[in-house]
Amino acid sequence: MLKFENIRKVFGDNEVLKSVSLEVPTGKVVVILGPSGSGKTTLLRCGNYLEPPTSGIVQLDDIIIDQKKYSKKQLKQLRENCTMVFQNYNLFKNKSALENVMEGLIIVKKVKKNEAREIAEKYLNKVGLGDRMDFYPSQLSGGQLQRVGIARAMAMEPKVILFDEPTAALDPELVDDVLEVMKSVAEAGMTMAVVTHEMQFAREVADEVVFMAEGYVVEKGNPEDVFTHPQHERTKQFLARVR
Ligand code: ADP
Repeated sequence: MLKFENIRKVFGDNEVLKSVSLEVPTGKVVVILGPSGSGKTTLLRCGNYLEPPTSGIVQLDDIIIDQKKYSKKQLKQLRENCTMVFQNYNLFKNKSALENVMEGLIIVKKVKKNEAREIAEKYLNKVGLGDRMDFYPSQLSGGQLQRVGIARAMAMEPKVILFDEPTAALDPELVDDVLEVMKSVAEAGMTMAVVTHEMQFAREVADEVVFMAEGYVVEKGNPEDVFTHPQHERTKQFLARVR
């Protein structure tokens, strides 16, 4: 399981996360909701130390990273096992879809090129891009680019995938394709933490929804409870606006 324990994050004099604790149990999907600026992305980025917390502990199974004390080896283990899907895809423009997916396998996991190619092909097929492997980012739609992003995150065969508003940059007609792929990843048993504004996805796929505001976890629970009986005023206001 991925566990955040008392995570604080300060940028300058802006305390963006104020002691956030959260668990993403193995095989479960946790969707993080909340208004813009509440710290959702920052929390996810602390999850794989793209953004080191100011204090607190990130734990992924037996990898325990205390901000006060951790080794390079632990950090590498965390990053290999906790991959991320970004809002803006973060693909290399000068590499094909296949090369983008192979890159992390070769550079980070030191997998041999032929094997990396096989693994990359397998995951590009899983996201429905078997016929687009040699295309470059400029030749792909937003939805296809994000599916490459998902294939890249899966190809590392991590313990958990973090999704940071994966459909936020897409034209509306391309959103469903990407949500369908995410749903299939969830159904295959992947542990997922997902920041999204897609309420229908949260309702259908999440095992737990977490509502954040102003750097705190305000409320969490199963989707049905949180959506139909939100407890806190802040959650009620947010849900009333996004519905
Ligand atoms: P959300 O994902 O809920 O919209 P974010 O985590 O993106 O919220 O941002 C929370 C706050 O942290 C915002 O006020 C944002 O300006 C600030 N912030 C995020 N990243 C940085 C950074 N790298 N440097 C300074 N401030 C940042």
